[in-house]
Amino acid sequence: MQLYTIKELDLANKRVFIRCDFNVPTDEYNNITDDRRIRSAIATINYCLDQDCSVILASHFGRPDGAFDSKYSLAPVQRRLQLLLKRDVQLSTDVVGEDAMQKAKDLKNGEVLLLENLRFEAGETKNDKEFSEKLASMADIYINDAFGVSHRAHASVEGITHFFDENSKAAGFLLQKEIQFFATLMKKPARPFVAIVGGSKVSGKLEALVNLLPRVDKVLIGGGMAFTFLKKLGYNIGASLVEDDLLDEAGRIMDEAKKLGVKFYLPVDIIAAEKFDPEAVSKAVTSQEIPDGWMGLDIGPATVRLYREVLNNVQTVLWNGPMGVYEMERFSRGSTKIAHFVADSYATTVVGGGDTADLVQRIGLDEEMTFISTGGGASLELLEGKTLPGVQPLVKPVIEE
Ligand code: AMP
Repeated sequence: MQLYTIKELDLANKRVFIRCDFNVPTDEYNNITDDRRIRSAIATINYCLDQDCSVILASHFGRPDGAFDSKYSLAPVQRRLQLLLKRDVQLSTDVVGEDAMQKAKDLKNGEVLLLENLRFEAGETKNDKEFSEKLASMADIYINDAFGVSHRAHASVEGITHFFDENSKAAGFLLQKEIQFFATLMKKPARPFVAIVGGSKVSGKLEALVNLLPRVDKVLIGGGMAFTFLKKLGYNIGASLVEDDLLDEAGRIMDEAKKLGVKFYLPVDIIAAEKFDPEAVSKAVTSQEIPDGWMGLDIGPATVRLYREVLNNVQTVLWNGPMGVYEMERFSRGSTKIAHFVADSYATTVVGGGDTADLVQRIGLDEEMTFISTGGGASLELLEGKTLPGVQPLVKPVIEE
């Protein structure tokens, strides 16, 4: 799959609209606690500025209800952008209202305008045509650099692309990098290739698991989803998270793995707790001996050692989903240990966004991974084998020889 890329565009002196993903986490004082998503967009913005473009930036931030809400203003992002770009960044008071339209019109070469939170307009998530057209009217060129929302058919991601022809729209550097990384991973990974799949439920990762099976050599399962598999094997899982309606599906996945020769690993021991509570009484038990009424909240020490053995000689690691309830210190040990093994390995290591990226950053291992995706949901859809609605319009048609 080839994308129209920013490098192929004639950008000189043009008005460029860049859809970014500035949906960064903030604390109770509105301070940005992790600006990786903003830093990731700087290459594309600077590339345009170096070609004397005027640049209009747009992003969503949090989940306002389609109307202005100062809590979700992009003002903190504007300040961080000014620091990173070392130049003024204007912020419009609306998205496509009088202020935004006037500021976009007055924008000169080398100047940057940030539109207020796209989700202050209900048309954004509804992929409203009129709203898309208003956004498009501000610029000559459209760039999508928002990987994290490219799995959503929203106005600034999908609708807007219909107002630009193939010579005036493209993927930014970040989007291109993310798409290419996952394409290579799925097509020609260095082997052995192991997928570590965790998180709360099988249902959230079912399609990804099914699509990964024919591509990987080994699968390591952790997190809440492990218990549906363990129950299918006939183990007593106590009060652990389980999806009874997916027991047969879990069985099919294990059968398919066997048929394909994929080594499918499940936790051999568990940290079980009396209740779902950070202070709950807990103990390590084998997966076959979870006491009635207790919940498995992390993988146990024997599983950690087993998974370390498996990770010893692999060449590619894809990790999506924590091994336990990592938000509670008592149940974060399995995920933390696995993060260290992955980081220390000589393999190409890919972390699939969302909670796993958060976990890796919390323990300061983000620089040690080969690639951390900026999008949890979007990367999962790529692993499911889907083409993302925000990426599809930027794919070059295949020309038959
Ligand atoms: P997901 O969004 O499906 O990747 O799931 C991430 C969430 O799974 C995190 O918030 C974890 O706390 C949760 N999780 C991981 N292991 C367990 C478990 N054993 N029981 C309940 N929740 C879990």
